[in-house]
Amino acid sequence: MNLDYILKKSQDVNVLSRNELVYLLDLSPDCIETYMVMAEANRVSKEVSHGKAEVHAQFAVNLAPCNCGCLFCSFAKVNGVFKESTEITSKQAISYARQFEIDGANAIFMMSTAQYSFEQFLEISKEVKKSLKPETTLIANVGDQYLKSAVRLKDAGFDGVYHALRLREGIDTNLTINSRKQSILNFKEAGLEVGTCVEPVGPEHSNEELADMIEFTASFNPAFSGAARRISIPGTKISERGMISELRMAQIVAVTRLGMPHSVKGNCTHEPCTLGAVAGANLFWAEVGANPRDIEEKTEEGRGETVKSCQTIFQESNWEVLNGSSFYYSRK
Ligand code: SF4
Repeated sequence: MNLDYILKKSQDVNVLSRNELVYLLDLSPDCIETYMVMAEANRVSKEVSHGKAEVHAQFAVNLAPCNCGCLFCSFAKVNGVFKESTEITSKQAISYARQFEIDGANAIFMMSTAQYSFEQFLEISKEVKKSLKPETTLIANVGDQYLKSAVRLKDAGFDGVYHALRLREGIDTNLTINSRKQSILNFKEAGLEVGTCVEPVGPEHSNEELADMIEFTASFNPAFSGAARRISIPGTKISERGMISELRMAQIVAVTRLGMPHSVKGNCTHEPCTLGAVAGANLFWAEVGANPRDIEEKTEEGRGETVKSCQTIFQESNWEVLNGSSFYYSRK
């Protein structure tokens, strides 16, 4: 196998094989070949998204200790970061969503922890939907759902969802691989576009595991795929495993792009950075309120980026930013 052959294959609009993905992931993050891979991923991302990056903006409707035991999440009860539960009102949700719309977010995400009341989530969502411009893209980021609930999300006005099978699901989480996969199928069957990601990447994940996950995300033709590194939550057991560098994350983001068909328009990375954008990430997130990677109750006082700061990172990386509602979530 050699790099020229792989790059030519990508230029000829072919998706790379698992072995080719592993080969690229095996390269040192700071070697010339990896920079060539990042340049090719940047070219593909610009081609499929017509040169327009997007900024999606997320707020959480609640903050609560969660029983699902995802070791990388600050909400997980097992991590003991948050002891109290708080919820926002419909009025606060509308205020967050409208501010994101004013700021120019290309999609607005509403997130809840897995045990938050689904009925309440729908109620707030309907209020939020009514308050936004009809064309504004609204996305749900919620726990696993049966088909019936997925249909109700669609009926409430959501255009899509974010849902991921996380690395080492069922080992580093209490959830099952099957329930995550089934939910993705349910969302799609309900007519919701699904955005996803290879996450949360840590130093312990092998290149074979990453390639398998890249292939899994490609298998259901998501609105976007991408890669995000695990952010260490101070004091947690999993933080002892460490974090990968932004450069390594950029390499994985680039390889992920080359593992997707061109029907997948978005390639996300989190947290936002110029290295990721240079390596072909065309989607970042701004966040307010509770954030599973933060120990601040309001991530805008901690790790959270704003729509403006995400737009600036793209501009600094020679990307234009889309003006209007999400192209990635409106392929049909
Ligand atoms: S990632 Fe979601 S399901 Fe897992 S512990 Fe955090 S809130 Fe719960």
